[in-house]
Amino acid sequence: MQILDKEQLRKNLDEVIWKMEEARISVSEHHIVKLVTVAKYTPIENIRTLYELGQRAFGENQVQQLKERMGLLDDLPLEWHMIGTLQKNKINNLIDQRPALMQSLDSIDLAVELNKKLEAKGQKISCLLQINSAKEESKSGIMPEEAIDIYQQIKETCPNINLKGVMSIGAHTEDTAIIQKSFETTHNIYQALTNKGATICSMGMSGDYELAIKCGSNLVRVGSALFKS
Ligand SMILES: *Cc1c(COP(=O)(O)O)cnc(C)c1O
Repeated sequence: MQILDKEQLRKNLDEVIWKMEEARISVSEHHIVKLVTVAKYTPIENIRTLYELGQRAFGENQVQQLKERMGLLDDLPLEWHMIGTLQKNKINNLIDQRPALMQSLDSIDLAVELNKKLEAKGQKISCLLQINSAKEESKSGIMPEEAIDIYQQIKETCPNINLKGVMSIGAHTEDTAIIQKSFETTHNIYQALTNKGATICSMGMSGDYELAIKCGSNLVRVGSALFKS
């Protein structure tokens, strides 16, 4: 992907923020939504420019790339999110990066392993439980009907994991009704977990963030829409 000039990035960012505004205000004036820029496709020059334009939170889906970029950009006060599947042999690498939020905790096994390694290092990490809300074989995540139990189980057995809510990727289809349903499924789980301390409902990407916000998302992960030329 190419390096974009500041005016192009400003235009893209303005457009995304404007659409987020419209969507969130249709829910409530008080519904605040956070934008996490998914940087995985883009050269780091674009991240620097977006930072100059006021953007702070960035997400990566691979530990290796997260590490590299956090290193190259450590002169900036950025907030980093891990949003991709975490292999067990990369857990220590991730922990050492101390990301602000690990959004893709997708199994009880991974939680137990992660907790063990955190304990050994005397560290904690904030996580979201990833829900496979449309039950797609190609996606990782907890099945919706098990999500509340597993959330509770992780809270009870993994003291070094600070669970903050849920994350989901909308159903992979052109059918808006089905995508909406997948967001509603995740949001219902989120709501049931608010009395267990959940505060983040992460859903919505470039193609569906407005719909996600209307379904109650309070964190969107947007990549390609910000980097179009
Ligand atoms: C790549 C990615 C995104 C952003 O995708 P875009 O469609 O480019 O906005 C969001 N969430 C996850 C988990 C991703 O891997």
